[in-house]
Amino acid sequence: MVNDKLGRNLQDLRISITDKCNFRCRYCMPREVFDDNWEFLNRNELLTYEEILLVIDSFMKLGLKKVRLTGGEPLIRKNMHELIRIIKNKYPKLEIALTTNGSLLSRYSEKLKHAGLDRITISLDSLEPKLFEKMNDTKIPINQVLEGIQSAIDLNFINIKINCVIKKGLNENQIIPLIEYFKNKNVILRFIEFMDVGNSNQWNLDQVFTKDEIIKKINSKFNFSPLGRLKKSDVAEQWVEKNTNQKIEVISSISQPFCSNCTRARLSSDGKLYTCLFAFKGFDIKKILREEGDITTKIKEIWEHRDDKFSELRNEFIKIEKKVEMSYIGG
Ligand code: SAM
Ligand code: SF4
Ligand code: SF4
Repeated sequence: MVNDKLGRNLQDLRISITDKCNFRCRYCMPREVFDDNWEFLNRNELLTYEEILLVIDSFMKLGLKKVRLTGGEPLIRKNMHELIRIIKNKYPKLEIALTTNGSLLSRYSEKLKHAGLDRITISLDSLEPKLFEKMNDTKIPINQVLEGIQSAIDLNFINIKINCVIKKGLNENQIIPLIEYFKNKNVILRFIEFMDVGNSNQWNLDQVFTKDEIIKKINSKFNFSPLGRLKKSDVAEQWVEKNTNQKIEVISSISQPFCSNCTRARLSSDGKLYTCLFAFKGFDIKKILREEGDITTKIKEIWEHRDDKFSELRNEFIKIEKKVEMSYIGG
């Protein structure tokens, strides 16, 4: 176990396995920035699956409990179930989770399950096809995502989560329909406050529909009561509807930050280690891995120097430096 300067131990690793995506969500990869001229990483800049496993080897020595594969869109990367298989074969007790936009999920869900994927989170911001198209800026039909979600349900993945980013004035009218749609479907809906990740999404505070507003809206129709955070290090707080036992979660990164319990490290698609989602700078782990081999000591040193708490200090940082983009660092 290794602690940072604020006494937070290293437990989770989020790995962006590609910076590419087949969506252009307005809040993440707006098309005017991520256009045809955008230079995505070359293949040799990405960590190979073997290298990702070497990074995990080092993190395991430092107490890693959970790894989340994300991106960009992770299912775009070829044979990504093979990555899950090699991790699971070596570390059967390590929890492996995946975050995906769901568009390719029905094609791969069986392979993912077979390879040993433990948990899956699928993003869905709207049930209305037009609004879905507008927010996620894609021509892929919403039904393809809904089929992906259904395939995960049919395969009995435990604890399926649906991530829904709420932007004020845009999709808060989807909160109640989403709760109704997923009522008996054995998934947990997670509403996320729109965050100021990266530098491209034109974030401003007026577009944040806060946790309190989300709960007020929900309880204008239903009767959900708070359960709090199930684990101290969870990013989300949970609520339950007593009659139906339906559960929902809220991530309040803007209105009520939770940095004091943040146990997450992040590995970008080109092998840089970040100690905060809102970091300005990463550490080039790939370089050390390719040139010297062992990276465990370096990771330990980086974590021990960590004192990030961006969300709690948000106002002091605004517009000071260029932050890393979400698709590159992984959500
Ligand atoms: N492409 C995959 C997906 O969309 O699920 C995985 C990567 S995506 C960056 C991970 C999560 O970050 C998604 O659930 C997405 O909705 C969320 N996200 C992206 N930009 C965000 C923002 N500005 N504020 C809040 N959540 C955001
Ligand atoms: Fe792609 Fe996910 Fe970002 Fe949307 S949120 S653009 S699906 S990486
Ligand atoms: Fe963790 Fe940084 Fe988010 Fe705070 S702002 S919870 S330190 S990732």
